[in-house]
Amino acid sequence: MNVPLLDLKAQYATIKGEVEAAIAEVLESQHFILGPKVDLCEKAIAAYSACSHAIGVSSGSDALLVCLMAENIGPGDEVITTPYTFFATVGAISRLGATPIFVDIDPATYNIDASQIASKVTDRTRAIIPVHLYGQVADMDAVMQVAKERGLVVIEDAAQAIGAEYKGRRAGSIGHYGCFSFFPSKNLGATGDAGMVVTNDAQRAEKLRCLRGHGAKPKYYHRIIGGNFRLDAIQAAIVSAKLPHLDNWTAARQRNAKRYDQLFREAGLPLGLPAVVTDRHIFNQYVIRVSDRDELQAFLKTKGVGTEVYYPVPMHLQDCFAYLGHAAGAFPESERAAKETLALPVYPELTESQAQYVVECIGEFFGQTVGAPSSDRSHAVAE
Ligand SMILES: *Cc1c(COP(=O)(O)O)cnc(C)c1O
Repeated sequence: MNVPLLDLKAQYATIKGEVEAAIAEVLESQHFILGPKVDLCEKAIAAYSACSHAIGVSSGSDALLVCLMAENIGPGDEVITTPYTFFATVGAISRLGATPIFVDIDPATYNIDASQIASKVTDRTRAIIPVHLYGQVADMDAVMQVAKERGLVVIEDAAQAIGAEYKGRRAGSIGHYGCFSFFPSKNLGATGDAGMVVTNDAQRAEKLRCLRGHGAKPKYYHRIIGGNFRLDAIQAAIVSAKLPHLDNWTAARQRNAKRYDQLFREAGLPLGLPAVVTDRHIFNQYVIRVSDRDELQAFLKTKGVGTEVYYPVPMHLQDCFAYLGHAAGAFPESERAAKETLALPVYPELTESQAQYVVECIGEFFGQTVGAPSSDRSHAVAE
């Protein structure tokens, strides 16, 4: 059986007509830059994230960058974040000449260990970027507490967490800014690069709008230096067309995660399961922890099961950040996670028999027979 890590074609088959109609409308209008489709998408994402403002931008990476720019963060400033994240989180900080200051992760959730943040705050600290990794919100009460005490700005990297909730609050609505990515493999994916910033602060929203269009206001009058960070109208129309399906897709991801949890618990295999500590984990990834990770991944590949390592090298050990001077061992939980984590297929269209097969294969790797006999399995393939 073939089980890809993500099957975007399966999803596209269910919404093809809607997506094609959305694209066709933009083509008929010939309105490609900002305009009504971007406005509508912004309103929809603001509402979905329980925020009063949303500003469409060119990517999740640019969402992070433009928030830091809006705070005039640059050389001499420090920004606290986690080393166990996608490059963009840290890249945005360093591109502006500011210094990323790392805080290790909580090994249970893989999110920033908020209890360690206060000890890293200096007179130069300006902001904190918690990352809601794999679709679960970081410990935002603790993050906001430190931020409030020390007068810091909080930029939520919610690229993997649209619709996730923490104590009844939506990802992106808790800090001063929330950043979303519509990269195709995110839970709400465009058909190219796209992103969004959400905020409840009208002044910040206005500055972000200005910055994404070269800092011009009005047109051709530049008080500040921005860039071209605009959300494309075709991508906005596609995101808007897909948004009404997002809650169903999230429910399917959660069902798949629960199914894995149950199958793995019944099998009693020597691996760590995802810890769900918030009300709404949206499972952009279902990540297990296992000591022979690379061997398991190679074995699953031979079985036709797609997996991925998010992420094999923590940011403090990346070549490009060597100038920060961190040695191996500096952030032990991030380093251990980089060696032990493996993301399994959890996409909404994953069938019960596919999930069963994945667990059986992992059981086989550990020399254990798991679940249904193979006759049931071949029957289930037809599902
Ligand atoms: C995907 C991602 C980003 C960047 O988003 P892009 O749209 O690909 O630029 C930033 N941070 C995290 C944690 C991500 O997963």
